[in-house]
Amino acid sequence: MESDTSVYDYPPYRPPNEANSGLIRITRGCPWNRCEFCAMYKDLPFEVKPLKEIKQDIQTARDIYGAIDTLFLGDSDNLVHNDLPEIITFIRKVFPEVKRITTYARAKTIKQRKPEYLESVHQAGLDRLHLGLESGDPEILKSMNKGTTPDDMIKGGLKAKAAGFEVSFYVLSGAGGEDRWKEHAINSARVLNAARPDYIRLRTLTVQYGTPLDDKLNKGEFEFAPPLLRLKEVKLFLEHLDLEGCFLASDHLTNYLWAGPDIIYRGITGELPQEKGRMLETLKRTIAWAGKSPETVKDSNHLYRSGLISRL
Ligand code: SF4
Repeated sequence: MESDTSVYDYPPYRPPNEANSGLIRITRGCPWNRCEFCAMYKDLPFEVKPLKEIKQDIQTARDIYGAIDTLFLGDSDNLVHNDLPEIITFIRKVFPEVKRITTYARAKTIKQRKPEYLESVHQAGLDRLHLGLESGDPEILKSMNKGTTPDDMIKGGLKAKAAGFEVSFYVLSGAGGEDRWKEHAINSARVLNAARPDYIRLRTLTVQYGTPLDDKLNKGEFEFAPPLLRLKEVKLFLEHLDLEGCFLASDHLTNYLWAGPDIIYRGITGELPQEKGRMLETLKRTIAWAGKSPETVKDSNHLYRSGLISRL
C-alpha cells in the first residue's frame, strides 16, 4: 500500500510514559465525552475510523517513525472498534520490531465486550490498557458524571486482566475536593485492591477553564482540596493499598508542588508492596514541611490559574 506522508492523523493525547512512542489513531474523540473535569475531546464528535484509513495511517506512521520500540493507539476508547484484532495484526506486520502496544480504554466498554473479543485483541498483540478510574468513591464518580460505577471499574479491570492485558489505572488526586478527600482515598484504594492492576498512575485534578467542573467551581459548588490536604489524601490512599506486583507512578507535572520557585514534591513512585514504606516516609516528610506554612505551597491549579501552565 502506498502511503501519503502529508496526511497523518495522530492522537492529540497520550499518557506521559508514552512520550517516546509512535502514535496511531484508531478512533477520534470519546464516545462518552461527559466527564465534568475533562477538556480533552470536548469539541470533537466521536468517530470510529474506517479500516482503510487506519491502515493508510499505519503505513504512513511506519514511513515517519521507521523501526520503533513502542506504539500508543488513540483516542479514548478503541475497544469499541470491531476491527481491532485485524488492525493490531496489521500494525504488528508493518512494525515487526515493536515491543509494546498500548491504548486508552473505558471500563464500561470492556465490561460490555465478549471475553473472546478481548482475548483476540490481546492475542493479536495489544499489550496494555490505560483506564481512568479517577475515583473509587461512588458519589464522586456520580458527581463528576464519569458514567461508570466502582463495580464497573473492578469488573472491567479484572476482565481485561483475564484476557491477558496489563492494566494501568489513573487516579485523580483531589477529585473529592475538600469535602470527600477521605472517602476518595479509601474507596479508590478499595477498588484497586479488588481490580489488582499492574500499574497505578496518579495525577492531580487541575480544573480547566470551560469544563462543567469549572462552572461548579465558579458557582461555589466545588471546592479545591488544598495541597496539604491532597498530600494527606495520597498518604491515606497509599496506607489502604494492599497490592503485590503493582507499580505506582506519579508521572505527570500536575503531581508537583512548589514553594516559590522551588519544587518541594514530585509525587511518589515505586513498587508495591516493597517500596510502600519509603513512599510513606516521603509523604510524611512533605506533610510536615508543608504544614509549617501551607499558604506558601502551590500546586498545578495555582500555576494554571496564574497562567504559568496553559495546557495539561
Ligand atoms: S475522562 Fe475519558 S471517558 Fe471521560 S470524557 Fe474524558 S476521555 Fe471521555
